[in-house]
Amino acid sequence: MPTSLSTPSLQTAIPPQIATAKTAPLQEIFSSIQGEGVYVGKRQIFVRFAHCHLKCAYCDTPMTSTTGKCHVEAIPGSSQHVLFENPMTPDVLLGILTQLNQTARHHSISFTGGEPLLYHGFLKSVFPEAQRLAPVYLETSGTQAEFLAEVLPWVDIIAMDIKLPSATQEADQFENHRRFYDAAQQNPNTEIYIKLVFNNDTTQAELEAVKEIVNDRKTPIILQPETSLADRTVYIQPRRMFEIENTLAAHFEDVRIIPQTHKMLNVL
Ligand code: SF4
Repeated sequence: MPTSLSTPSLQTAIPPQIATAKTAPLQEIFSSIQGEGVYVGKRQIFVRFAHCHLKCAYCDTPMTSTTGKCHVEAIPGSSQHVLFENPMTPDVLLGILTQLNQTARHHSISFTGGEPLLYHGFLKSVFPEAQRLAPVYLETSGTQAEFLAEVLPWVDIIAMDIKLPSATQEADQFENHRRFYDAAQQNPNTEIYIKLVFNNDTTQAELEAVKEIVNDRKTPIILQPETSLADRTVYIQPRRMFEIENTLAAHFEDVRIIPQTHKMLNVL
């Protein structure tokens, strides 16, 4: 085991009132296409939560909405929003999801953030009903195994990050990732794939850590080149990108390089 697999649990850093609350602060709810990962291009309803416990250097997600209220885009792509009060109750969210789901055929409902698992008490009330509308797709930093365990029975797909310090500029989360990945394996009906944001500085030791955390070689690995939101600069040379892909492809069965595609279309 690499010596870097030593980050202490994050749970102590999270205020307990957030995790157990039955309401949650939401930033926006809208219907669009998935821009990342295995299901890129699929139509989804997105529920974006406020706040995150991490501080990735490349993060381009606002941590709260501009008004503090939840912006609900009634007509997809219109940028016209109806404002809902925060924090939101499960009943209000489920009413919005039911209405939005009637506007188009959706592959799944993406719960994203920020970090949605901060609000696992709220999600526990939402997921069983949401799953009746469409499969539940959880986008997460993949660092809070205990919170995942609370809601795992109702999660159909997990898009799990493994945070590489070369990209986040933060301490590694490898031990938390290992515990999270193991927890996710407890539900055989839950599909999981891994997303790695990487750049020129990504190291061999980081790739070795990924191999150690993800012990099922069939788990898809999505390499997402770090890209500037401002000017679309890609922080990796093509040659290095293929070296990294080749290293992981020698171990995992399904490795793909997929940039964030929704930004090309200027959609949410
Ligand atoms: S985990 Fe995601 S939302 Fe949180 S800081 Fe990192 S990139 Fe941003």
